Amino acid sequence: FPITVYNNPFGGMKMKRALVTGVTGQDGSYLAEFLLEKGYKVYGMRRRTSTPNYENVAHIKNQIEWISGDLTDLASLIEAVRISDPDEVYNLAAQSFVAASWPQPLATAQLTALAVTNMLEAVRIVKPEARFYQASSSEMYGKVQETPQKETTPFYPRSPYGVAKVYGHWITVNYRESFNMFACSGILFNHESPRRGLEFVTRKVTDAVARIKLGVQNELRMGNLDALRDWGFAGDYIKAMWLMLQQDEADDFVISTGEMHTVRELLEVAFSYVGLDYSNYVVIDPEFVRPAEVDLLLGDCTKAKEKLGWKLEVGFQQLIHMMVDEDLKRVRAETAY
Ligand code: GDP
Repeated sequence: FPITVYNNPFGGMKMKRALVTGVTGQDGSYLAEFLLEKGYKVYGMRRRTSTPNYENVAHIKNQIEWISGDLTDLASLIEAVRISDPDEVYNLAAQSFVAASWPQPLATAQLTALAVTNMLEAVRIVKPEARFYQASSSEMYGKVQETPQKETTPFYPRSPYGVAKVYGHWITVNYRESFNMFACSGILFNHESPRRGLEFVTRKVTDAVARIKLGVQNELRMGNLDALRDWGFAGDYIKAMWLMLQQDEADDFVISTGEMHTVRELLEVAFSYVGLDYSNYVVIDPEFVRPAEVDLLLGDCTKAKEKLGWKLEVGFQQLIHMMVDEDLKRVRAETAY
């Protein structure tokens, strides 16, 4: 990646400013780290809660400028854009867990769909020249209409989450076309890391492997083991977000590994890494089977490779091993006394 030092005190260049929503989440924390390293001033928007969770950003908490805001409150977003005066806005906040979107379809629509319009409006009103990144998702392909999926593949979402993300994608495209805003939609396939939420399948598995290995758990209840996903490393994917905003023109890009694995393979890789056989521990529980499933996701990111020069660094096995290692460390620390 090209290295540009924006805050070089000797170069006299203006320090770039970024506003990141969802900064305490997996992607937001990696992106904030990356932008800070590049010399950006990073404004992180956070929602007021009585018990804040800074786990993912604890190491950079003091380097982030915190702004209080709520995705459902346009006034607060206008204020966030006014205070941060951003060159780049990364909209990563959402209700991001597919399974939670059936029991909470309207909250998902508010946070994952309508909130994108709130953010775009805040930018359009206060600083329309700011560059905007929308976190779109491979879940928009749902019941896939072609394989592999690329930017031109029609969407067929299969969950209230997927439906909401389709809205977010198209409103981003529409603001680009209506108001000539520099608005990009990154269609990211599943991306994981040790910071992934514990309910997502990769992290659920690597956390369970660590607990089982260390003797504090004895079974793992799972849903559909035949689902196929294209899993990459979040730390690689956030670089693509940044690259999209450094181009001459705003556009939409698929980001993926181009490889898919079943949930069963994920279990095999994770359990065998610590010398265990998953079939001795995994129990199928209908609670984790979804009302409508996305059977297969496989991305073709040729466009991103060619136009952005983006490349993948961490492969599937390496990713899962890294996650198991981190969970072993954490569970060991939690259970030590
Ligand atoms: P998603 O692709 O955004 O829904 O990411 P997830 O990590 O939540 O799920 C990936 C796939 O794993 C889906 O097809 C799920 O149905 C499947 N899966 C199977 N068992 C489980 C489980 O126990 N938890 C979760 N989250 N997913 C599961």
